[in-house]
Amino acid sequence: MTDLPRIPLAGVIGHPIAHSRSPALHGFWLKRYGIKGHYIPMDVAPQDLRQALEILPKLGFVGINVTIPHKEAILQIADVITDRAALIGAANTLIFRKDGRIHADNTDGAGFMANLRQNAPHWNPTAGPAAVFGAGGAARAVIAALIEVGVPEIRIANRTRPRAEAMRVDFGAKLTVYDWVQAPNMLEGAATVINTTSLGMSGKSDFRVPLDALEKTALVTDLVYNPLKTHLLIEAESKGCTVVDGLGMLLHQAAPGFERWFGHRPEVDEATRCAVLSA
Ligand code: NAP
Repeated sequence: MTDLPRIPLAGVIGHPIAHSRSPALHGFWLKRYGIKGHYIPMDVAPQDLRQALEILPKLGFVGINVTIPHKEAILQIADVITDRAALIGAANTLIFRKDGRIHADNTDGAGFMANLRQNAPHWNPTAGPAAVFGAGGAARAVIAALIEVGVPEIRIANRTRPRAEAMRVDFGAKLTVYDWVQAPNMLEGAATVINTTSLGMSGKSDFRVPLDALEKTALVTDLVYNPLKTHLLIEAESKGCTVVDGLGMLLHQAAPGFERWFGHRPEVDEATRCAVLSA
C-alpha cells in the first residue's frame, strides 16, 4: 500500500473552549484557499496538558493555538521559545516540528499592531505617550509590541497595582505606573489609548473611566471585541478620535499560525470579519 500524504491537523486547546472563535476563523480560511486540512477545538484540562502535547503530533497535528488557561504553563513544556514569548511570559501558537520539538511563539503583539496598521493607517505610535489600561496577559503582549515600534512613553494603570509594577520591572523605564483611581490622568497628551482589561466585555461591567482629558488626535483601541463597539470606543468616537475595535487583533494574531501549519498566508479582510462574526 502506498503512503498517502497526511492531511494536516491543527486546532486550539483551552479549558473551556466552546466560546472560541478560532475554529470558525481557520475553517473559513481552509475553505477559502481550498486547503485539505482541519482545525479542531479541544477542551484540555490543566492536568492533561503535558499528555495532550505528547499525543497530538503523533495523531497528525502540525501545531495548535493555546488559550486560557494554558498560555503561561505551555512555556514549561515547549522545547524552543521565541524571545517575544519569553518576554511576554506566554505563548499562543505552537508548531510541532518534524524533529519532535515543540516551538512556542506569541503572536498577540503582532496581531495587535497589524490591526492598528490596517484600520488606522495614519496612526503614528511615536507621536506621543501610550496609555494602557490593564496589566493582564494581553497587556504584556501589547506593551512588548509598543516598545518594539518605539513608543516614547507607556503609562499603565491596573486595578491591582502590583501587577502594573511587575510590568515596569519586566519592561523597563519607559513604563510609568499610575494608580487605578488616577488612571484618567494618563490620557493627558496621550497619542494612543488602549483598553486591555476585560471591562466592557459582554456580561462584565462597562469601562467607565472618565475621558475628559482624551485628545481628539488620539487613536483609541479596545481589545474587547464582544461587543464590537464598546462603551469606550463609542465615547472616544464621539470626541472625534480614531477608534479601532479588537476583532482585527484576533484575526491577525491567527494568520502566522495558519501560514506555518497550512502553507498559505491568509488575508485578513472584510469577508474574514463577516465569517467570524456570523459564526
Ligand atoms: P487577564 O490576564 O485575566 O487580565 C484581565 C485584566 O482585566 C486585568 O488587568 C484585570 O485587572 C482587569 N480587570 C478585570 N476586571 C476588572 C474590573 N472589574 N475593574 C478593573 N479592571 C479589571 O486577561 P487577558 O488575557 O489579559 O485579557 C484581557 C481582555 O483582552 C479580555 O477581554 C480578552 O478577551 C481580551 N483579549 C482580546 C484579544 C484580541 O485578540 N482582541 C487578545 C487577548 C485578549 P486585575 O489585575 O486587577 O485583576
